[in-house]
Order: sequence, then C-alpha cells, then structure tokens
Amino acid sequence: MSSDRRQFLTHAAAIAGASLMTPTISSAHPAVSGSKRLLFRYRPYTLALKHVFTVAAMSRTTTPVMLTEVEYDGVVGYGEASMPPYLGESHATAEAFLSKVDLAKYPDPFDLERIIADIDAIAPGNPAAKASIDIALHDLIGKLVGQPWFRLWGLDASQAPVTTFTIGIDKADVVREKTKEALGFKMLKVKLGKDNDREMIETIRSITDMPLTADPNQGWKDRAYAAEMAHWLKEQGVLYIEQPMPKDRLDDLAWLSAHSPLPILGDEGIQRLPDLIKAHERGTYNGVVIKLMKTTGLREAHTMIRMAIAFGMKVLFGCMTETSCAVTAAAQLSPLVDWADLDGNLLISNDIYDGVRVVDGKLVLPDRPGIGVVKA
Ligand code: MG
Repeated sequence: MSSDRRQFLTHAAAIAGASLMTPTISSAHPAVSGSKRLLFRYRPYTLALKHVFTVAAMSRTTTPVMLTEVEYDGVVGYGEASMPPYLGESHATAEAFLSKVDLAKYPDPFDLERIIADIDAIAPGNPAAKASIDIALHDLIGKLVGQPWFRLWGLDASQAPVTTFTIGIDKADVVREKTKEALGFKMLKVKLGKDNDREMIETIRSITDMPLTADPNQGWKDRAYAAEMAHWLKEQGVLYIEQPMPKDRLDDLAWLSAHSPLPILGDEGIQRLPDLIKAHERGTYNGVVIKLMKTTGLREAHTMIRMAIAFGMKVLFGCMTETSCAVTAAAQLSPLVDWADLDGNLLISNDIYDGVRVVDGKLVLPDRPGIGVVKA
C-alpha cells in the first residue's frame, strides 16, 4: 500500500467517523497494488477561498469538492468535482452518484468512449461528479502512455493563452486593493450585475489600463441597458461579456448578440453539447464559456470546443473555484481556445495539487504525463 493511498484511506475514515456522511470511500474491490483492473476511490474536501467571493446572485467563502482517484497497474490518475452550491451538486449528491460507479468491470482503461458513455447514463445531471471520473481517467491514460494530454491532442503548449484573474463585486476601496494585488496578470475579469457596474470598472481603470473582461452572471434584466453597457464597456477596453442576461431570455440574448459591439458569451446558458448546438441554431450567443464542471469533463469539452470553432463561435475556457487538479486538466485544452479564465486554483488557500502555473499572466503547462499534476 502506497503512502498516498494510506493517507487517502485514513483521511476518508477520519471524515466518515467525524461527519454524517455515509461511506466516503468507494472500493467495491479490494485495493491491490499493481492490480490490472480499474480501482476507483473518492473523498470529500472543502476548498477555503482566500477572499469572500461575490457575484450577482450571492457570496461565499468555501466550495465543496470531491477528489477522485482511478488506479490501474499501480498508476494513479487524479480527478476532481467542484460543486459551487448554486449549481445544485454537493458532497451528498456526488457521493450518491459516485457510489454507483463500478470501474472494475472494464478490463481496458483506454476504453474511454464506452466508460464515459456508461457513466453519463447512470443518472441525468451530476456534471461535476461525472467530470471527476473523466478527468481521473484522462490523467491515468496519459500517465500509462507517458505523455501530457496537450501532446496527445496535438497541441502546442506554448500557444496556451493568458488567463484572466477575477475581481468580484465589492466596494470601491476593496476593488482598488484587489486590483493592485492582481497587477501581475495581463487581463482582469470583472464581475458585474449589481448596482455598481460603472463604479467597478472605473475603480479598476483608476489603477490599470490592462484589458478587461466582464461577467454580469445574468444580472442585467433589460436588453437596452445591456446594449448600452456593451458600448460603454468597449470604450473602457473590455474584450467580451459573459452571460449578460438571464439564460432563459433567448430572444433578448439573440438580439443583444446581434447588436453588441462586444462578443456575448453563453456561460450559464450553455452547459453541454446539445446546448451549444441550440445556441448556434438560434444565434443566442457569439461564443461559449466551456467549463469542465458543466461539460462532464475533458472528452465532451474537447468536442464542444471543436464544434464551436466550426460554428465560428468564440471560445473561453473557464472554471469554478477548483484545486490545481481540475484547472490543470482544463489548461491542457487551452491552446485551442481564444481566451482562458483559469484562475480557480489561485482563489483558494488550501490547494493540494501542483500543476499549471501562471507566468507573466500566461498559462504554463507542466511537462508531466496525464493532466500534469502532482500532490503538493
Ligand atoms: Mg461566467
């Protein structure tokens, strides 16, 4: 038994004993080191955020995640489900879903198409829980062949984009301080959608002239206001706007996408592949925000990025607050996209992985097999 595994079991046992959670570890089959079959385990973990994080609808200081491991022949792949409460998944729902997953029945870990389709069919929803398995399987496969995924996908890691760093909605003095702390980045993402949109932007502009991006998180209810803001934001050096209006306001969003001088990207409104196709058919958005916790993982994310490019849509790769595990997995695909907002690991104080780095604002992928993370 490796020390890694012992820690996992010990931690899981401690949590099981200390909380109301039902079994926090899945091991339908005894864990035998070097076993030529897929072993699967998981444990809940809670991310501590460095700052209170406020977006249009709420504030919070923690994010529940589920950490997964898939092991084959002594090689371990890491995965993660990040579950911000407003999206409906939790430690309990992930536990309920993951306890139904039996990877031991698949003799070949490379049988990704079948395994991922089977997992998707276990129950509807649960996109983050599904992603936690998809990511771990990708990590395992990359490690088994000894290559990072950017290379397996034929991508040039040096083409990884800069990442935005997110400034949450706050009072002007706090925004000023957060902006000063973020001056090492090359692009800032500004959360909007409350009653201080212009103040947020003007406060940041009093500190820096670097490019900005805007995310009202469905906070704008009037399309004329949204269009007016789009023009003003363009003058302020903003590059694009994520999900300006409620996701069910399809006609207003299509009108805005046709009239906005800035690209309008669907985030809350585009979860998985069928949503992307509908958005394209209806002209709802000019682009899409891909996140592994929406797409059920890397496999569908890759397909969606390819399809969005074919549709002529812009692509932003985003994330939730996540450890470096899920963020680094996302970064493997980032050389394909127009923009990245992969700062989720930088917003937490208790990361347990080391992976992608931000150097001079740009994502720098580790040259390690799989998704490229090691335990910190
Ligand atoms: Mg967003």
